[in-house]
Amino acid sequence: MSDKHVLLGMDQGQLKELFKALGQPAFRAGQVQAWLNKGVPFEEMTNLPKALRESLRENCVDLPMSIHQSFPSRKDDTVKFLFSCVDGNIIEGVLMHYHYGYSLCISTQVGCKMGCAFCASTLSGCVRNLTAAEMLSQVLLANRFLGDRGHVGHIVLMGSGEPLDNYENTVAFLRLVNAEDGLNISLRNISLSTCGLVPQMERLSQEGLPVTLSISLHAPNDQIRRQIMPVANTYAIDELMDTVRAYVRKTGRRVVFEYALIDQLNSRPEHARELAKLVSGLQCHVNLIPLNHVDERSLRPAAPEAVQLFLKTLEEKHVSATIRREMGSDIGGACGQLRRSVLEGKG
Ligand code: SAH
Repeated sequence: MSDKHVLLGMDQGQLKELFKALGQPAFRAGQVQAWLNKGVPFEEMTNLPKALRESLRENCVDLPMSIHQSFPSRKDDTVKFLFSCVDGNIIEGVLMHYHYGYSLCISTQVGCKMGCAFCASTLSGCVRNLTAAEMLSQVLLANRFLGDRGHVGHIVLMGSGEPLDNYENTVAFLRLVNAEDGLNISLRNISLSTCGLVPQMERLSQEGLPVTLSISLHAPNDQIRRQIMPVANTYAIDELMDTVRAYVRKTGRRVVFEYALIDQLNSRPEHARELAKLVSGLQCHVNLIPLNHVDERSLRPAAPEAVQLFLKTLEEKHVSATIRREMGSDIGGACGQLRRSVLEGKG
């Protein structure tokens, strides 16, 4: 992008300064900010004089991000996006079409530093945090892409990055996307997925934000979890589960456990029984994910029969569980894979 001013992400003070420099009254700042948060392009900001709209088009860009490339799946309605940031970083998002509408999976960081052994996002570490404006831009750009076909009604924070490792920006984004004069997306339609950063989960429970919390558990005990998730060396499963129970008590919200089934490692019936014991009595749902194989990783997905048996074993123990439907598996399913293939010139 050029040296134009990027407007979304500026606060009122910065916008007022800019409008002063453009010879405009300060109240325009508030008008423009409201339009920006909804994703309305300059030419459709109808309460601005035409000359100002043109001046904005010449001197400014609205979003700090653009669609670099989009990859529609040939198998279903899924579209994978590569977005480019103003500083040249590339991140990814996935748009999915469900019976209840469009859901967008967004990234919260460029890369990730959590180091999970099965995940492509973390292979090159974390480059930087995304700002709240950059998270919102992913939603606004997906809406523009959809045009008349519809709009994003649900959001999952499950792209690259650990949202709770970028706490302030993530919470600012949640308030921004939920704002009545913005996109006004219900927080109940938003899922935040974390690898289990205990102090930040405690802090989140105090924010009064009724999002659905997903916890990437992936193992029924510390011994297995430590083999695949470095974060398990910092927070033991007992401590994590205490925090989850406190979260449910405090918010009254059901939580979701993500559990990727890996061949040999965590997918045997005894692991299912151990998991059932761990979550028993907790208001929760278990999302079973057949592992997406990542080229750079040696871990293999569990066989389909093992996945079915795992589900059956949980159900026998009265644990609410489903197997996650695979979508867009032809377009770089697992998070971080598509961005990585582009970084390495394979895309
Ligand atoms: N950092 C957050 C959110 C991003 S990852 C978290 O850890 O929850 C979103 C989900 O995809 C997590 O549950 C993550 O563990 C899972 N995931 C990552 N790589 C995967 C793979 N190769 N196969 C299946 N699930 C994967």
